[in-house]
Amino acid sequence: MLAGGVGGARFVRGVREAVRRATDAPLANAAIDVIVNTGDDWWLAGLRIAPDHDSLLYTLSGQNDEVRGWGRVGETERVAAELQAHGVTPEWFTLGDLDLGTHIARTAWLRSGLTPSEVSSRLQARWPLGVTLHPATDDEVDTYVVTTDGDRMHFQEWWTRHRAALPAARFEQDGIDDASPSPGALAALEAADIVLVAPSNPVVSIGTILSIPGMRDAVLGAGSGAAPVVGVSPIIAGAAVRGMADACLTAIGVETDAAEVARHYGPRSAGGLLDAWLVGVEDEPLVAGLRADGVAATAVPLWMRDLDTSAALAAAALAAGLEHPRA
Ligand code: GDP
Ligand code: CA
Repeated sequence: MLAGGVGGARFVRGVREAVRRATDAPLANAAIDVIVNTGDDWWLAGLRIAPDHDSLLYTLSGQNDEVRGWGRVGETERVAAELQAHGVTPEWFTLGDLDLGTHIARTAWLRSGLTPSEVSSRLQARWPLGVTLHPATDDEVDTYVVTTDGDRMHFQEWWTRHRAALPAARFEQDGIDDASPSPGALAALEAADIVLVAPSNPVVSIGTILSIPGMRDAVLGAGSGAAPVVGVSPIIAGAAVRGMADACLTAIGVETDAAEVARHYGPRSAGGLLDAWLVGVEDEPLVAGLRADGVAATAVPLWMRDLDTSAALAAAALAAGLEHPRA
């Protein structure tokens, strides 16, 4: 699976549940590997923060604050208040005390020479998830936003401080040309039977993963070329379900529409990525056009309201993969 943070975590939780509920091969006991977006990662207060990784880590280990939607349940912010009083962290980005423990551990391990993948393995050893997370790359490729006014800022400042309200002209990924997919991501793709593209942000989550040199080819060649790629739309009835994906799509000239996002990824038959694509039942009228374009589109309930709806969506995505094997 390719996944970003919050949308990714909900979907991965659904896939894990769908596999747990499956009684027959090939899904029963299937291994689930998640290639995690690293484009939101950044340095703050001398610490390496990996927001999408940790959203997955906390959600899948049952420690997510379900009310707030992100961070750790039972979180306190005593250290955060000190850091803000010192002026070390901005007032628009709060690092909870428990969360800081993760960032300090991550940074300590990085400083001792471990790769981000090895750091991720240590965190998952403490909190077994029932899936395996792989940072998409072990190289440091942070995302910057250039606004239409010509300002350039780290993605986190644009996203969290400005709530994506400053029109973006483009996204820049420092160091991307020299980056490569992590060994775990490549091994997972090579072993894959089905590749699922989570309903994550198509630009700054999935787009960032795919822009790592070698990643797109690895996805298309997954399972020695036999694994179908099934995507799930993060757009329902012309709107981003949660979050601000529309601001990112607008910046790259893609309409906020479930069919246009599929065309942006592209049908495999036309040099794109997708074999199959799930849209919401609200978007059923888009299915015929997508099929004409060469994408096996299906309309299913796309809202992940709870574990059951997430698992049903995941089961539909897995079924689409099983129904559309590649030669
Ligand atoms: P982030 O890294 O935390 O921004 O999260 P992701 O990149 O994983 O996903 C963000 C996207 O998930 C949003 O743009 C939403 O459109 C999408 N999303 C969130 N909840 C749902 C849901 O219940 N169903 C679907 N289909 N998409 C969702
Ligand atoms: Ca993210």
